[in-house]
Order: sequence, then C-alpha cells, then structure tokens
Amino acid sequence: MLLLDKIKNKFRLKYRKKRWPGLINAYKQHLPVSSKTPIITLNEGNTPLILSESLSKLIGNGTSVYLKYDGLNPTGSFKDRGMTMAISKAKEEGSEAVICASTGNTSAAAAAYASRGGLKSYVLIPDGFVAQGKLAQALMYGAEIISIKGNFDRALEIVRELSSKYPIDLVNSVNPYRIQGQKTAAFEIIDDLGKSPDWLCIPMGNAGNITAYWLGFNEYKKLKKNLKLPLMMGFQSEGSAPLVKNIVVKNPETIATAIRIGNPVNREKAKIVKKESKGDFQSVTDEEIIYAYKILANEGVFCEPASAASVAGLIKNKNRIQKESTIVCVLTGNGLKDPDCAIKNNDAIFRKNIEPSLKDISTILGY
Ligand SMILES: *Cc1c(COP(=O)(O)O)cnc(C)c1O
Repeated sequence: MLLLDKIKNKFRLKYRKKRWPGLINAYKQHLPVSSKTPIITLNEGNTPLILSESLSKLIGNGTSVYLKYDGLNPTGSFKDRGMTMAISKAKEEGSEAVICASTGNTSAAAAAYASRGGLKSYVLIPDGFVAQGKLAQALMYGAEIISIKGNFDRALEIVRELSSKYPIDLVNSVNPYRIQGQKTAAFEIIDDLGKSPDWLCIPMGNAGNITAYWLGFNEYKKLKKNLKLPLMMGFQSEGSAPLVKNIVVKNPETIATAIRIGNPVNREKAKIVKKESKGDFQSVTDEEIIYAYKILANEGVFCEPASAASVAGLIKNKNRIQKESTIVCVLTGNGLKDPDCAIKNNDAIFRKNIEPSLKDISTILGY
C-alpha cells in the first residue's frame, strides 16, 4: 500500500472507529444493565448533530444552532433510544408481552423492538390521528393494533390499567427504562460538542424526553466537573399546551400529532427540569411550526411537524439569546413519518399532466 493510502485509511478509520454497537453497548456503564441483560438492539443512537447554517444566520449574533437529528434512528424517531432499554429489560425480567398507548412513534418503536426480541406487542392508538408512516410501521413490525374512538390520554389510562392487572409490561414513558435509554442523546451531544449547549430546545408531549435529556446532562456533569448545564426550553403546540398553561387540556388539537397530548404523565418531572435549569416552557402555533418545518427542509433536513416545534420555539426567542451561544434543537422524528402533512404544506412548484415532450419541457424550464 502506498504511504498516502495508508495515511488516508488511518484517517478514515479514526473517524469511523468501530461499527456503532447501539446505545446500550456504547454507554453500558451509565445504564442499568448487567451481563445478564439480553440486549435487544437495532444499532440505534449515534445520530448526527448537524450545524444549521440558515438558523445560525437567522438567529445571528455569532450563535451556532445545531440540530440533533434523532429522526435517523432505526424506526425514525428518538423513541428507539428508550425502547431498546425497555424491551431489553422486559425480556430480562421474563415478560412475554408489552403494551403501549401511542400517537404513533412509540407504537412503531415498541412493535419493532418487541418483534426483534421475540415478544408480543399490543398498541392502542387514537383513531384517525396517527400519521400514515407510523401506522404503516406498526402494521409491518407485527404489533396487534387497537384503534380506539378516543384520544391519546384515554388510551394511556386504559393501558396503565391493563398493565397493572395483567402480566403485560407497559412501555410508555412512565417506564423508567425508557428515560434511561433516552438520556444517551444528551451524552452524544456533549461527546460531539465537547461541552453542553447553552440552550436545548425540545418539543414536549408527555415530557419524558425533556426529563431524559436533563438526567443525561446532569449525569455527565457529575463525571466532568467543569461542564455547564443548558437552559431547557420546552415547546408545545398552542392547542395542546398543558405544561405551558399548567392545566389539563380536554381536547388537544394540533397539526403536530406526536405532541397532541392533553395530560402529560411526566408533568411533575418536567416542572422540576424547568426550575432546576432556569429554562422555560412556551407554546408555538401550528403556523409557526409549519414555517420552521419548511426552513429545515430547505436546508435538507426533513423532520416531522412535532419536531419542528423546537425550531419554531427557538425562532420565537431570537431576541433573548445571548451572543455567541451554542444551541441544540432536538428533531425528534423523521419527516417521512407524516407524508400527508408534507404534501399539504409545501411551497414546491409541482407541474402535473405534462406531455413527455422535450420541447414542452424545455419551454417550461425557460430554455
Ligand atoms: C414522542 C414524541 C415527542 C414527545 O416526546 P415526549 O417524551 O412525550 O415529550 C415529540 N416528537 C416526536 C416526533 C415524538 O414521537
């Protein structure tokens, strides 16, 4: 091998390192697993932290805005981080079945990991309010799906009751192993940046993820004493903002179906996160969400509407951000999850019924 090739190869290997083994294997020493835990993994985690040129410019003042693109997990959302843990522990404890209520992504992840681990999965979803991509996943991954004439909050009440009465493990974010798995996203951000961000902007539904990030940042701070902690900025949709308004929303409504939740189970934990981090909870309108959704896609990052709430919230706080801040917006799910939303909300030029003629098409292109 030529010397130059050798150097190039070494350089490439340094960056690629070993094959990513999934987040449990990568962060084992920080997770409640032992040599007896059967690790059910799809090599989740290790998602990219992408510098957004357009958002950094929009916020200005020397600010760097990064996107934690968790939509690149195996089933297309951060739920995989929690589910690899929840299913591994369920299997370790000898469970044969798991159950969850879901606005879509939890059911996709639960179904995938349960099948991978050889467990049966049951998912309860609100009839008509689960995005197409997510429904397709639950159908394909082998869950038994129960679509109810009620919303997410009702579905969760039912599965909590069922799991307390029967030998079925609940894998919603009340399951503490979910939070344990999800905290690894905070580890990855610090590993990538070499520090904590000044702000973390994140959408909130049941508020499990904001709780998990805060846990992750705090655990790393214990190990690396000089680490600062970020302000935790949680965002909800205006029509579904129980944590912002400090109420229970009876009939939550929003285009962002993943966070269409009126009575978050991790309400008390979220309040503590807000207080300890000196952060804030705010709401954004569906219009602001769609605006952010388009800005992201324009830079090549396609997320689902719920995820864009983190960016919509960031934009709203433009004037509060100190100069030269480092900000991370969490993009919780992949845009392909909700194709209907994209097809209805875009500014694309889409010409239809065109004759396949070179001349006609050249004219259309302006040549
Ligand atoms: C589940 C989910 C959320 C909300 O996360 P919580 O932990 O319930 O606050 C946000 N975005 C997407 C895409 C989700 O799937």
